[in-house]
Amino acid sequence: MSVRLVLFGPPGAGKGTQAARICDKLGVPAISTGDIFRSNIKGGTELGRRVVEYTSVGALVPDELTDELVRARLAEPDAAEGFLLDGYPRNLAQVDALDAILADAGRALDVVVEITADAEVVVERLLKRAQIEGRVDDTEDVIRHRLDVYADQTAPLSGVYAERGLLVRVDGLGEIDEVTDRLLAAIEPALHH
Ligand code: ADP
Repeated sequence: MSVRLVLFGPPGAGKGTQAARICDKLGVPAISTGDIFRSNIKGGTELGRRVVEYTSVGALVPDELTDELVRARLAEPDAAEGFLLDGYPRNLAQVDALDAILADAGRALDVVVEITADAEVVVERLLKRAQIEGRVDDTEDVIRHRLDVYADQTAPLSGVYAERGLLVRVDGLGEIDEVTDRLLAAIEPALHH
C-alpha cells in the first residue's frame, strides 16, 4: 500500500501504540523521531549525545538536527512506497521542512491524522507508563512541559493541514482496538487517491 501519512497528537495520546498497529495493517514503516532519538541515546551515538539535553527536559530537539534525520530516514528504500511519521513534524518550521523534503523527492502527503486526548487523561497515562517503562521524560514536571510545548508549537499544525484538506481528527480515548478501528476508518478514504 502506498500511503504517506503523518500522525500527531499530545504526548500520551497513544501515538506509538497506534502507529505500530496502523503500519502493520498498511504495510508501511512507522518512523518515530522520538524512538530514533531514544535508541541513539541508549546506543551512546554522537546524535544521542547531542539530543539528550533536550529530550530529557521535554524540550524540542533543534530543527536542523531533526529535519536532517528525517530527510535521511525518508530516503531509505523501505520508505519509498509510503510511511507513517509519528512525532514529526512537531512545529510549523518542521512542516515547511517536510514539504521541502517531499517536494525534492516528487512526493506529497496523503493524509494527516490528529489523535485528540484530554490533558488530564494523558498525564495520568504517562505517569502510569513511567512506572512500567521508566522513560526519563515521564516525570510529572517534564510531562507538563511536554504538554505546554505541544499546545504552543504542535497544536497549530491542525489549522495548517486542515486548510490543505489533509486533516482528519480521531478521538484517542477508549479501548486500544476501538481507537485503531477509528483511525483506520479515518485513513481509509485517503488510500484511494
Ligand atoms: P511524546 O509524544 O510522548 O512526547 P516522543 O517519543 O514523540 O514522545 O518524543 C520524545 C522527545 O523527543 C520529545 O520530547 C522531544 O524532545 C524529542 N522529539 C521527538 N520528535 C521531535 C521533533 N519532531 N522535533 C524535535 N524534537 C523531537
